[in-house]
Amino acid sequence: MPEIIVIGGGAAGMAASLFAARAGASVTLLEKNEKLGKKVYISGKGRCNLTNDCDRDAFLAQVARNPRFLYGALHFFSPQDMMALLESAGCPVTVQRGRRVFPASEKASDVTRALTSLMREAGVRVRLNTAVQALETSGGRISAVLTADGGRFPADAVILCTGGFSYPSTGSTGDGYRFAADAGHTVLPPSPVLVGLETVEDWPRSLQGLSLRNVTLTLVRGKKTLYTELGEMLFTHFGVSGPLVLEASCHLPEDLSGVSLSLDLKPGLTPGQLDARLQRDLSANGKKQLQSILGGLLPARLADLFPFLCGLPGTLRCSQVTGEQRRILGEKLKSLSLTVRSPRPLPEAIVTRGGVSVREVDPGSMRSRIVPNLYFAGELLDVDAHTGGYNLQIAWSTGALAGSSAAKNSL
Ligand SMILES: Cc1cc2nc3c(=O)[nH]c(=O)nc-3n(C[C@H](O)[C@H](O)[C@H](O)COP(=O)(O)OP(=O)(O)OC[C@H]3O[C@@H](n4cnc5c(N)ncnc54)[C@H](O)[C@@H]3O)c2cc1C
Repeated sequence: MPEIIVIGGGAAGMAASLFAARAGASVTLLEKNEKLGKKVYISGKGRCNLTNDCDRDAFLAQVARNPRFLYGALHFFSPQDMMALLESAGCPVTVQRGRRVFPASEKASDVTRALTSLMREAGVRVRLNTAVQALETSGGRISAVLTADGGRFPADAVILCTGGFSYPSTGSTGDGYRFAADAGHTVLPPSPVLVGLETVEDWPRSLQGLSLRNVTLTLVRGKKTLYTELGEMLFTHFGVSGPLVLEASCHLPEDLSGVSLSLDLKPGLTPGQLDARLQRDLSANGKKQLQSILGGLLPARLADLFPFLCGLPGTLRCSQVTGEQRRILGEKLKSLSLTVRSPRPLPEAIVTRGGVSVREVDPGSMRSRIVPNLYFAGELLDVDAHTGGYNLQIAWSTGALAGSSAAKNSL
């Protein structure tokens, strides 16, 4: 029976070890944490948006980096296969808005529990609190895996599933990039995606914690629109975050000069309708301060700040607002601009972009094109996708394919 060592017990490592064991290998999973799937536990705010119930073309359209590389993995183990696998292990799933799939209990821990029980049934040996330090090579192949506590695990094949650099407290500290580079692989510089954005303007900080629903956020560079969508966003101590901003971060160019966000705070109204509304509200509330009518259009904290954002005195009464000032108000409500300074750092990103170059990995097996008994799966690879369950599915699919191929190729 071939001996396969899987390094990293996140989503990809759990799938890889399960499929390698089911394909007839003797499998040991080495995980440096005290438990498996620490990142799965916090995924989807603890609810775990584990996949997206869409077909392959729709899935690949949501993959930002190297979608074609994933064709074989998704064919081998699709979102629907993942849903069926969990159901078979007593973890029913539910499909929600945008075809996002969650465990019916909405508890991420149920996903890990189901996978762990399948792994146990398949005979996977799990070694927790075991940090891998290096790969031992001999004759151009990996001969063993060396651990920080002095252990040596001889291997017929090794599957690297160590994740990226994001949320290092979950164990993703980039160790696999070093192992891959030592084995001769190209590792593309890691960068943050699905991450909050720091703004040059200070005012978002004063609105920290305020969430805006049903606004349109547009990412622009000069006159070019890089991303635009209706949804929800959040003001923070550094600038902006929330679902729309995380998605926008996937579309940031490397050079951020001239990149800004434009917020349409009233996407349901045309400029003409909005102007008519302002005109009506201003004339009906002549003695009141401008903020009071803005409070009918915006959340109170933003309404208080809004005259300042338009360069108008905070004490202005509605009857004093000139036609030109009303035009400025309407313009800012439809297009409030923020300058992007930078994405937040990698440890805060939902996903790490970059990593092991997919050019050096066979997409039909996840096998290294450089070291014949080395395999890769999950976020360690240079693939990433938008929000919606796609990133976890990438880990399940590449993990399942890597595990199965490693076992079959070693038999
Ligand atoms: C807050 C948050 C929420 C998210 N929510 C979602 C979501 O709802 N849906 C979705 O699709 N995606 C989500 N993601 C992204 C998704 O969780 C990841 O893309 C996915 O978990 C990556 O899986 P992985 O197995 O490749 O890596 P990881 O989950 O990072 O697992 C890597 C494992 O390797 C171990 N390891 C690392 N180095 C060593 C070593 N030297 N020795 C031994 N073990 C080692 C680590 O401890 C870790 O357990 C979220 C991410 C974050 C941060």
